[in-house]
Amino acid sequence: MLTDTHCHLYLEQFAGDIDDVIRRATEAGVKKMLVPGMDLETSRQAVQLAETYPGIFAAVGYHPTDMQKFSAEDFDKICRLAEHPKVAAIGEIGLDYYWVKENEKQMQQRKNLLPHFELANTVNKPIILHLREENDAEAGDATNDLFDILEPWHEKLSALKSHPGVFHSFNGNLESAKRAMNMNFFIGITGPVTYKKNDSQRDLVRQLPLDRILLETDSPFQTPVPFRGKRNEPANAALVADKIAEVHQMTRETIAETTTKNADRLFRWESHT
Ligand SMILES: [Zn+2]
Repeated sequence: MLTDTHCHLYLEQFAGDIDDVIRRATEAGVKKMLVPGMDLETSRQAVQLAETYPGIFAAVGYHPTDMQKFSAEDFDKICRLAEHPKVAAIGEIGLDYYWVKENEKQMQQRKNLLPHFELANTVNKPIILHLREENDAEAGDATNDLFDILEPWHEKLSALKSHPGVFHSFNGNLESAKRAMNMNFFIGITGPVTYKKNDSQRDLVRQLPLDRILLETDSPFQTPVPFRGKRNEPANAALVADKIAEVHQMTRETIAETTTKNADRLFRWESHT
């Protein structure tokens, strides 16, 4: 049994065949899928999918590259959605200095993270973090900026302290991974771990303890080998599991079981109903 902890199934790429996509996922052993929103509209769509399919759960929030849509009024609506029993997390939220380079807009990303953190506390649900860095130092340091906001928040947590969230599609270094795991965060691993030239990602994964890894596809993006270039879908979580199994010299079953248990520990799917 596998769990795809990150897939954007409301996007237009799935509009024509969502039932088939979910059937193929089930056949591949993917029993649960978590669909994170990126703004009010997609958060609503994520909840709608969760209401339609028993294996789907939702997360709600504003993606850092969609912050221009953020308003207090719409955020109130996100807060109400967050109480839905099939909303398992707040996300995806975070910092993206790769696509957003203007200082003022980066500041807006940091500022608007805070009400999301507060919301996670209020509804007692973990956060799904998006972190994307620009290699050019002049574009700012998203990793340090994120930890600077995250660590004081985590310090004051009570119920969420042991399972505050996940760094989705992690592509930082081991030092950042350790800093995240020190706060009990999970590390999300996606399709790029299968890419031929991505030895650095495999080296990182090798050094991560298995009980910290979450499996994700980020569908329709980040398609694993051998389907790279095509649309990604949750059934491909099995390919990511296979690569982690190879790297850790374990069976796919062990990886599937462990990462599913990790997801259960973090998202506590049924506890909000
Ligand atoms: Zn995403």
